[in-house]
Amino acid sequence: SFEEVEDKPEDLKPRAPIVTVMGHVDHGKTSLLDYVRKENVIAGESGGITQHIGAYGVSLENGNKITFLDTPGHEAFTAMRARGAQVTDIAIVVIAADDDIMPQTKEAISHAQAAGVPMIFAINKIDRPTANPDKIKEGLAQMNLLVEDWGGKIQSHDISAKTGTGVKELLEKVLLEAEMLDLKANPDRLASGTVVEAFLDKGRGYVSTILVQSGTLSIGDYVLAGTCSGKIKAMQDERGNAVKKAGPSTPISILGLDGAPQAGDKFNVMEDEKEAKQIAAKRAQLQREQSVRTQRH
Ligand code: GDP
Repeated sequence: SFEEVEDKPEDLKPRAPIVTVMGHVDHGKTSLLDYVRKENVIAGESGGITQHIGAYGVSLENGNKITFLDTPGHEAFTAMRARGAQVTDIAIVVIAADDDIMPQTKEAISHAQAAGVPMIFAINKIDRPTANPDKIKEGLAQMNLLVEDWGGKIQSHDISAKTGTGVKELLEKVLLEAEMLDLKANPDRLASGTVVEAFLDKGRGYVSTILVQSGTLSIGDYVLAGTCSGKIKAMQDERGNAVKKAGPSTPISILGLDGAPQAGDKFNVMEDEKEAKQIAAKRAQLQREQSVRTQRH
């Protein structure tokens, strides 16, 4: 069975932080994610990020990696949390320096706080003549959120997602935060993690992007994900490369499930294909009964 087995401390290895970008509409979440994806950041790995698989990993010059959930906004964050998924290690909250602290900024902050996820503020659009980062930091201070410039502990960095100014330094701060969190996972066990997105592809069948959080996923593994199951036939990374194995904090798209699980569903590799099928079927049955019940009421 896939009951959580405690890892021994000596089996835990450092893993990359998983980052979500949140903030008010139009403050630059998509632009930041696009910039980081396009620049492939900094290390200049061969092959750009060509596939939109809902998450991607980048490497910095020092070889450290960061995994980004490529779904801007806190809807995805809350949808995942509603399904019990705790995926995000660090939240980047983007705030436009030529605007105010807006309602969705406050929402993003309270979501991160409720989830106990540390925040880093990206004060964006500093290329604009009307940008006033100090005003934003003052506004944060009034909310009891003291950034480093204000003598506090919360990291922030002034950036332009358009020109790229400050983005590298922002990512270095993400790594610093990650270091303090001491993120670890055991790569030497059956993989488990969370579904990021899934869809039916005309030619390839069901394609699911999953984020491996523990263990190592391999081709041929039997996967149980929500109400779906199947044997992994192929795996592909965000650069379109075929991959045979995926360890902790790696986003990977997989082929072989018999359906499309929902974002936020947990996935587990099972020792036994039949057991995976039975559990998936039982869950599907429960879901059908549940929906009949809600329709009646
Ligand atoms: P989102 O709704 O938070 O994802 O915001 P977008 O990334 O879509 O950005 C909203 C608008 O602001 C777009 O027109 C972007 O081109 C623009 N924008 C985003 N970041 C910057 C920036 O750093 N500087 C400038 N000048 N414009 C930006």
